[in-house]
Amino acid sequence: MTGPPLVPACPVAVRPSAIHGRGVFADRPFPKRKKLGEVTGTIIDARRALRRIAHHQKIYFVQLDQRHGLDCSRGNEFGRLNHCCAPNCYLRIIRHRVEVYALRSIRRGEELTIDYGQTPHRAGMKCSCGAPRCKGRI
Ligand SMILES: [Zn+2]
Repeated sequence: MTGPPLVPACPVAVRPSAIHGRGVFADRPFPKRKKLGEVTGTIIDARRALRRIAHHQKIYFVQLDQRHGLDCSRGNEFGRLNHCCAPNCYLRIIRHRVEVYALRSIRRGEELTIDYGQTPHRAGMKCSCGAPRCKGRI
């Protein structure tokens, strides 16, 4: 089910990222705890999706609960949020909605990042977020 986002996205832009591929960038400053928008996509079977993702180096997926996940590969710009070991945003999952919030105040032009948490990759994924305390793996 893809429809228009329920909440209009804040001014963000998708641009090439130093972390990985393309990322999401703040087009204006955001205060801490500001809701930036929602990740949109299609609700899919989580277990099947996780098995598939384990063989890919790009993740467009948010686990919603044990059985469901959100495939955000064809959703809005927030599907492009990259992982960082010291992220500036976080996701809040309310039923099957995925909201994006600022974890701290964010400057204009900063890349917006989240902590992916556990991924289904057996050996983890290589992380190149560049944070001073980067763990090296996701
Ligand atoms: Zn890292």
